[in-house]
Amino acid sequence: MKEPNIAADPAVLKGLDNYRTLTAAQQPTWTDAAKLQAARDELAVLPPLVFAGEVDTLRTRLAAAAEGKAFLLQGGDCAETFVDATADRIRNRVKTILQMAVVLMYGASMPVVKMGRMAGQFAKPRSSDTETRGDVTLPAYRGDAVNGYDFTSEARATDPNRMVRAYHTSASTLNLIRAFTTGGFADLRSVHEWNKGFTDNPANIRYEQLAAEIDRAIKFMDACGADFDSLKATEFYVSHEALLFDYERPMTRIDSRTGNPYATSGHFLWVGERTRNIDGAHVDFMSRIRNPIGVKLGPSTEVADVMALIEKLDPNREPGRLTFITRMGAGQIRDKLPKLVEAVKASDAKPLWITDPMHGNGMTTKNGYKSRRFDDVMDEVAGFFEVHRNAGTFPGGIHIELTGDDVAECLGGSEMIDEKTLESRYESLCDPRLNHMQSLELAFLVSEALAKR
Ligand code: PEP
Ligand code: MN
Repeated sequence: MKEPNIAADPAVLKGLDNYRTLTAAQQPTWTDAAKLQAARDELAVLPPLVFAGEVDTLRTRLAAAAEGKAFLLQGGDCAETFVDATADRIRNRVKTILQMAVVLMYGASMPVVKMGRMAGQFAKPRSSDTETRGDVTLPAYRGDAVNGYDFTSEARATDPNRMVRAYHTSASTLNLIRAFTTGGFADLRSVHEWNKGFTDNPANIRYEQLAAEIDRAIKFMDACGADFDSLKATEFYVSHEALLFDYERPMTRIDSRTGNPYATSGHFLWVGERTRNIDGAHVDFMSRIRNPIGVKLGPSTEVADVMALIEKLDPNREPGRLTFITRMGAGQIRDKLPKLVEAVKASDAKPLWITDPMHGNGMTTKNGYKSRRFDDVMDEVAGFFEVHRNAGTFPGGIHIELTGDDVAECLGGSEMIDEKTLESRYESLCDPRLNHMQSLELAFLVSEALAKR
């Protein structure tokens, strides 16, 4: 049988380029137009990183989450870096997400959709175009896909070739993720074994019981003759903020089976709090791709903004298409979220609601570190569950900045990380992440909340 090969519709291609006529916030100032064009041309012919069929499957998984029949766990670095795309670090992050997923799956008694902020999270929006240290002012660091982090004018100069390197780094990251999640590493039984180590920390006695319960459940399944071979592999999706048009547009391809455009840079893309303007270039571009997409919603979000985003991004009310990622801050979520949730509930839209308890809870420590308190993170998650319980809607997932490594960037948790400890183990180039232990602790706490849901 001949494969269908639907040619690109010129109107679809024109639509994909419509962003050029609109205001595009947070774009780098590239200085070499010829180099930029060469990088775009190169990206446009490199193979897709993800495939339309996978993206479509993810949409059905997210549709289940929006209906309260699955739970989304999305996590990873604030900003991935080229130097940290090593086997060990990628493995540790995947491992952390798999461990959290088992704990959440047990608490929720439902499938957990696993998604990394990985294999593409190389571009960052910044609150200022420049950074000043002492009497030196240089362009701000905008992520490894744009410029370098070192505080020198050479490093901070933009280089379009970095986008090509971001592509290749994403490809090798994704290759390792695919190997880890299908090659036996993700076996349910070994993931559970890892979690047992977590309970060695005496502060975590209360979780020992949960780990023991999971253990009994696994033994019970085994005794029933459950097919553990089928549990050796797991689906794992990748996502990032769709920020750079010069990366996303060349990576968007027409699916030859359907003629539809898909962003092939990742399964799921989101628009950030700073670029979600309804008339802006980002929302227009996202409205034209078939991928499931997310929008971050901060505390200034009005009901009218949410309704306009739904009309523009999900006019057909397609299950799984649209995810709202709320990041209100622990102090504001109980005030700001209810009106949004109630308005959407009263409409015909069924977006997936997930919580990002990180970005509304930033603070600077006395010794000068950008940090977040673990207790604030947990309080925002608790507020998110409360709001949805009161509204009768589904708290469908969590979006976390985390690493699998033993860093000290967020304060608190059972290891009681304090301001002084940040001085020795702070590695993030951008926002502070939960470390391995804090991530697991969060999973145990969310699992308890899900069991009560
Ligand atoms: C981020 O996710 O790293 C980020 C910048 O988030 P927000 O758009 O919510 O500020
Ligand atoms: Mn961040």
